[in-house]
Amino acid sequence: MKMHTTKQSLGAALAGERRQGRTIGFVPTMGALHEGHVSLMRRARGENAVVVASIFVNPLQFAPTDDLARYPRSLEADAALAAEAGVDHLFAPEVAEMYPHGSIATRVDVGPIGDIGEGAWRPGFFAGVATVCCKLFHIVAPDRAYFGQKDAQQLAVIRQLVADLDLPLEIVGCPTVREPDGLALSSRNTYLDPEARRAAPALAAALMAARDAAASGEESAEELRWTVKTCLEAEPGIRLQYVDLFDADSFSARERLDGRGILAAAAYVGGTRLIDNVDVVPAALPAEVRGR
Ligand code: AMP
Repeated sequence: MKMHTTKQSLGAALAGERRQGRTIGFVPTMGALHEGHVSLMRRARGENAVVVASIFVNPLQFAPTDDLARYPRSLEADAALAAEAGVDHLFAPEVAEMYPHGSIATRVDVGPIGDIGEGAWRPGFFAGVATVCCKLFHIVAPDRAYFGQKDAQQLAVIRQLVADLDLPLEIVGCPTVREPDGLALSSRNTYLDPEARRAAPALAAALMAARDAAASGEESAEELRWTVKTCLEAEPGIRLQYVDLFDADSFSARERLDGRGILAAAAYVGGTRLIDNVDVVPAALPAEVRGR
């Protein structure tokens, strides 16, 4: 695996790969890699001749009150994991390489999807994500880019970005990797002290209870929200911030489950904010659509 810290070095290496007609798969990350990231890299390895991963903690998507300064960083361990997962080129630029003037004036406006769900609680977050992904897509020029369903709204934002701006790549969504007790893997799980780690799986359990209620015929978003809230009342270590139902394709907010949906939530576990989501499928949907 080759490490690159500059756009120029990565660009020169990839130009050589492209001249030989090799397809490029790309996995953008913020590092502190875990098996969730690794699953994306392995998928990319299986589907492309060349695999590029990036590690960049993007200041543009952090609010001043967010955890930018203390976000976990572990470049050496990350490089070992990426190499083992089959990554050919690891791009780990400094902030000054991506934003030479400290920041940039241009932002990708993602429209209404940026103001709901996560966006309602983190103003500007999805504009920051879309902007850095747009830059990275231009720098890497991949055939395919891989994103986790763990961040379902981010995946929807990126699909919209690529469609709206005619970016010439395919976006591949990959399933959420979980701990055996259901907790979705996340770099921020390293913040959890033992008591918070004990409480944390209750978020996934509550979402899965609501998913089961939907499978048994519950279609009201209010009732599904109520199921999640009630489950979490039994776990004083967790404070739910929001839980909302979205359409699985458009990611528009839904009050009734009238097609494939995504139930997404954020919660504070101790001082750590975690997000998670599950697919919810109405019982009334034909079997062939339910199994998608
Ligand atoms: P991050 O480093 O948190 O920005 O995540 C980089 C990519 O890994 C994103 O596409 C995430 O959705 C994905 N990812 C993070 N956690 C998981 C997980 N538990 N399972 C699958 N993909 C994940």
